[in-house]
Amino acid sequence: MIRKVRQHISQNEALIFEESSPGKSGYQLPPLDVPAIDPAAALGKQNVRDEIEGFPEISEVETIRHFTRLSTWNYAIDLGLYPLGSCTMKYNPRVNEFVARLDGLAWAHPYQPESLSQGALQVISDLEAAMLEITGMDAVTLQPAAGAHGEFTGILLVRALLESRGNPRKRILVPDSAHGTNPATAAMAGYTVQNIKSNEQGLMDVEALARFVDEDVAALMVTNPNTLGVFEENIVQCAKILHDKGAMVYMDGANMNALVGLARPGDFGVDVMHINLHKTFSTPHGGGGPGGGPVAVKSWLEPFLPIPRLARKNDQWHLDYDRPQSIGRVRAFYGNFGVLVRALAYILAHGCDGLRNATLDALLNANYIRHKLAPYFDLPYTSPNMHEVVFSDERQAKRGVKTGDIAKRLIDYGFHPYTVSFPTIVHGALMIEPTETESLREIDLFIDSMISIAKEIETDPKMVLGAPYDTRTNKVDEVGAARRPVVRWKPERPASKAAD
Ligand SMILES: *Cc1c(COP(=O)(O)O)cnc(C)c1O
Repeated sequence: MIRKVRQHISQNEALIFEESSPGKSGYQLPPLDVPAIDPAAALGKQNVRDEIEGFPEISEVETIRHFTRLSTWNYAIDLGLYPLGSCTMKYNPRVNEFVARLDGLAWAHPYQPESLSQGALQVISDLEAAMLEITGMDAVTLQPAAGAHGEFTGILLVRALLESRGNPRKRILVPDSAHGTNPATAAMAGYTVQNIKSNEQGLMDVEALARFVDEDVAALMVTNPNTLGVFEENIVQCAKILHDKGAMVYMDGANMNALVGLARPGDFGVDVMHINLHKTFSTPHGGGGPGGGPVAVKSWLEPFLPIPRLARKNDQWHLDYDRPQSIGRVRAFYGNFGVLVRALAYILAHGCDGLRNATLDALLNANYIRHKLAPYFDLPYTSPNMHEVVFSDERQAKRGVKTGDIAKRLIDYGFHPYTVSFPTIVHGALMIEPTETESLREIDLFIDSMISIAKEIETDPKMVLGAPYDTRTNKVDEVGAARRPVVRWKPERPASKAAD
């Protein structure tokens, strides 16, 4: 019996559809005391929803408990370290959540007249100024809602500028260490992607680059520091090679957590870049949004930025739509405003020294982990790293244990896994980014766990291969989930099948 109850409470929550029983509902209304009307006749048939087939019928308390139980299955930054590399899964101070929820900001309506939106527009203007100071660029749009969206916007800007010069060109160069969104963006913007191999230090190969750049190249898309966490120290030289042929440098700024207050892309040859507000600037993420991917540009790309642009007239902010060269809108209204508020609150609370210290702490934490784990895990690239470190499973693979298996075992130790098998230039990668928000105590716990797993693999690799043991489900079929996702409940499916 106790097993059955435990299963019910915490082990095997059914789908809400399976909890359904006909006639139950979450509310009760008093009997109608006015004449009933036919909604289709009153509102028009096209405005009346059809019945939703198989919609769960369930009481309020059952609904609340269902979702509350599910929420306890999640790992969260509020529980512990979340070392996913390149994702900058850091703790976001609660005060920024408080600021974003202030009535005047949270309830501002995007269709409010400009004269009543001066405060909101000032927030946008202040954040724009901060972004320019941090990046060393000349102008910025806060519209894009994510990093990939920012990339797409940025490459459309490059295309628009090149078109205005008479030829949009054909190719975009992408290093082999790039995030998958870079080649995807280039292809969506109508360019052919050409891969450049990294050299043995994990850096862009300047000579290879020089061979590839010609008058058909529109831009290089580069992440800096790159996805190995290594600063592309030849970036100025690379930028010159591109600029000499009339091409541009796009910087993927997802790793800005390593640069803020230390180095400015605008000072090392970047023409256009995005920043992930939901990585570096205090918006919680991992649940799918909302996010922010501001795009900052040098002056030559400014005329093409999305409309509307914030402008000043008669001592008032207003929105300027009269921008004939603009690529148009990329997002409704002015971006995800609440995300912008969090970013500005975070930046102002830190101040210049605080932001720089946060960056230095992020670098210190990553290098501390590197130093402590290097005796136990293979380090394929020994170049100095910044905010993240990439190991490989080479030693453990000799005993049959791969990076994905180590990650699953880490769950039993109470941590979210690191990034598995990325970047792809490292075979069997373990990519770890602790961020600045972790205490020495938490980082030491993580290090001890990783060392303990390395030792388990030496003595009992089979046991590690069976992990995780302390979770609700054991290993799941990840390939099946990606290739054949079941995203819609079909009432005719047998319940056990659908729950797989
Ligand atoms: C996260 C990330 C992206 C994509 O950003 P989203 O906000 O998830 O769209 C692009 N490049 C790199 C290197 C990233 O880490």
